Order: sequence, then structure tokens, then C-alpha cells
Amino acid sequence: MARSSLAIPIVPKKPSWKISKTGKTAKQRPSTSANSNRRAKSTVLPKETAEEIKKLKAKLSEVNIQVYEKKEEIFKLVENCSLETQNMNKELNGLLNLEKEHKRIVDLKNQTEKMDESIKHYNILKGIQDEIKDLNKMKFKYIQICREETFDESWLKCEFCRLFFGSEKPRTPRVLGCGHTMCFSCAENRVKDDNLTCRIDGEITKVNGAALEEAIPINFTVATMCGI
Ligand SMILES: [Zn+2]
Ligand SMILES: [Zn+2]
Repeated sequence: MARSSLAIPIVPKKPSWKISKTGKTAKQRPSTSANSNRRAKSTVLPKETAEEIKKLKAKLSEVNIQVYEKKEEIFKLVENCSLETQNMNKELNGLLNLEKEHKRIVDLKNQTEKMDESIKHYNILKGIQDEIKDLNKMKFKYIQICREETFDESWLKCEFCRLFFGSEKPRTPRVLGCGHTMCFSCAENRVKDDNLTCRIDGEITKVNGAALEEAIPINFTVATMCGI
């Protein structure tokens, strides 16, 4: 770009003639012929003045060129400023995106920490659940053992009086006509009018005046299990 300093404005000397806004010399009033001749002579510019005008016109043209160049320069500067502003905006947007990204990373880190904490808790819970499962298995096993023991023990007792069978006559296990077993003592107590009613199914075993011992024989299976 052509760079040139602004020329110092040259203030022209006040012209001695009248110039209208249109630049034309003012119209002369009609006058007498003598006056007319004198004034016609006065409109002829002196040579020096004409030279000065020529110089001024040249200077004006030069100034106009300089003004044009300055305008160009200013336009370029504005354009550069605009480009620079655009670049700065891009950079700013980039920084804002970076900030967002940074925030996102921080959030992700926090989430990961929380997830790690959750996983720890989950593992602890899983461990506890496994322990509970093992305990439940043990519990189930013990319950089964207890049931088996109870079941086994039930074979050793009369279902009605809940007393252990024994070798003494009242404690001997006796089988009724229906197949149920009870101790001799309980059977004896349930005989009424030669009828022995089973407490479980209500079936009657006839005694018919015979000795009760014969009507309800010993249950040898139970007796053997009881070690009688
Ligand atoms: Zn029965
Ligand atoms: Zn009994």
C-alpha cells in the first residue's frame, strides 16, 4: 500500500475577486459603458494568481489522492481488524469448548469415583449375600438334621402321651387294627365297651372281652428300633 503522510493544508490567500458557490464569477451588473470597460479589465486574473490557482489545483488533486489512499488504508485496517476479531472469536470458542471438555472430564471423573464406590459397596453386598447363602445352606442342613433327629426320635415315643416306649408292659408299643401304634397304657385308657378307638383315624379295634394284650400285639419293628 502506498503510504504518504497527509499534506499540510495550504490556506489560499483570500482572493481579491468574487466567486460564487458554483465557482463562476459573479454576474456583473449592467452599467454604463465606461464602467463596463473598466470592470472587464479587472476580471483578467494576474499571472501570479493564475499560477497560484494552478498550484493549488495540483495540490488539491494530490490531497485527494492521499485521502483516497488513506481511505484504502483505513478500509484494509478495518478488514484486518474484522479478520482478527473473527480469529479471536474462533480462539475464544475453542477455549470455551476446552473449558466445557474440561468440565465434562471432571464430571466423568466424579462419576467414575462414584461408580468405583458403588462397585466396592456392591462387592461388599455380594460378599454378604454369599455369606447369607452359605448360612442359609447351613441352616437348611441343620434343619434337616434336626428334622431327621426329631423323626427318628418320634419313632421312640408314643404318638399320644409323647413318652418313650419301654420294656415295661404299660410302655410297650402296641399296634392297633388300623395299623397305628401307641403305648399299652394309652390303649388301655381308650378302651370303652370292648372298643378301642384310634385317636388318629377314629377306627375301632374290637377287644371282645379278650385280653387287651392279645387284641393289640406288640409292634416289634418299633420295639426293635427302641432297643426293647
Ligand atoms: Zn388308627
Ligand atoms: Zn402312650
